[in-house]
Amino acid sequence: MGVREILEKERLERADLITLLEAKDEEKKLLFEKATAVKLAEIGNKVHFRGLVEFSNICGKDCYYCGIRKSNKATHRYNVTDEQILDAARFAFENAYGSLVMQAGELESPAFTLRVENLLKEIKKLSKGKLGITLSLGEQSREVYERWFKAGAHRYLLRIETSNPALYQRYHPTDTLHDYARRLTCLKTLQRIGYQTGTGVMIGLPFQDTGDMADDLLFMKEFNIDMVGMGPYIEHKDTPLYAYRNQLLPIEERFDLALKMIATLRILMKDINIAAATALQAIDPLGREKSIKVGANIIMPNITPGKYRNDYALYENKPCVDEEPEECKNCLDVRIQLADGEIGYDEWGDSKHFHKRLAGE
Ligand code: SAH
Ligand code: SF4
Repeated sequence: MGVREILEKERLERADLITLLEAKDEEKKLLFEKATAVKLAEIGNKVHFRGLVEFSNICGKDCYYCGIRKSNKATHRYNVTDEQILDAARFAFENAYGSLVMQAGELESPAFTLRVENLLKEIKKLSKGKLGITLSLGEQSREVYERWFKAGAHRYLLRIETSNPALYQRYHPTDTLHDYARRLTCLKTLQRIGYQTGTGVMIGLPFQDTGDMADDLLFMKEFNIDMVGMGPYIEHKDTPLYAYRNQLLPIEERFDLALKMIATLRILMKDINIAAATALQAIDPLGREKSIKVGANIIMPNITPGKYRNDYALYENKPCVDEEPEECKNCLDVRIQLADGEIGYDEWGDSKHFHKRLAGE
């Protein structure tokens, strides 16, 4: 079956998804046009901001793909002070960003739990409860997730990285800290607690094919996920996975595949929030805007204080590392307009899917 026929179907099967992910030229254009139409019809052209604070690159884990993994001794480790995190939150609030994402390396400790809990309360206070808060702090116990939820976080991003357990194993050390089953349990716990729950995958990893990626999309659908942030895998020279760089698709093809993943997901899950991943911009300066055109509706401007940005190097060529938040904002206003989007200032921009899920629809 061709792309045109598939795009008219009510229900997409695995084989259909693979065909869409492999679409080229005219057929790819059809896929993108359909995704744009679905987005406009279901959620409109609004783009919502989540000011991203990458507050520490200290990490207890050793994922084989990531530049700030524990064993990378070349990384200069930093921890943004509480004061600076609150300043960044104030900046987001005053500039009507609507929401904040707090992301960092993964640490599990009572001191870390308490620090985040206190920060959440402070951010809620300084924004009079108005700033929405997403956390992206990896795997934690149910008790920790509950404490943070009570303190004011209402969304959580935990990428499954790949939905194929055998592949997951190849990208991580074999130990209890890097266990696929635990990651999945954490995602389920987040959903049960009441978080708007987000996941995602990397696209174009070594050993991964379009069948795996179709399975990733089906995983998101079956899981009934509310939000997705997914982007291309970009190799980092100080990581074990770098040894397989010769097996990777050329970077432009990984970029293209990421856009097709976003477009296909928009058609598969019409009312969820989809983020324009920063990794897209690392490949193409207009990468995030291109993804907005084909289905994404969330953008995460980096509001980490400038001097730390270079050190949050998950992958190479991270964009905007030299800019201060103010410059970032001006540049984004223009960019979103270029992508035919309209910024939803001062709004949370919750996932429509989440509210429908709660209402049992
Ligand atoms: N420590 C937390 C959050 C920070 S990492 C966690 O792991 O959940 C955030 C995301 O960065 C990861 O989920 C992973 O998908 C992505 N990432 C890490 N290394 C990457 C790379 N080399 N290329 C692209 N994305 C990468
Ligand atoms: Fe740490 Fe997250 Fe990087 Fe894994 S992906 S090494 S948990 S920061």
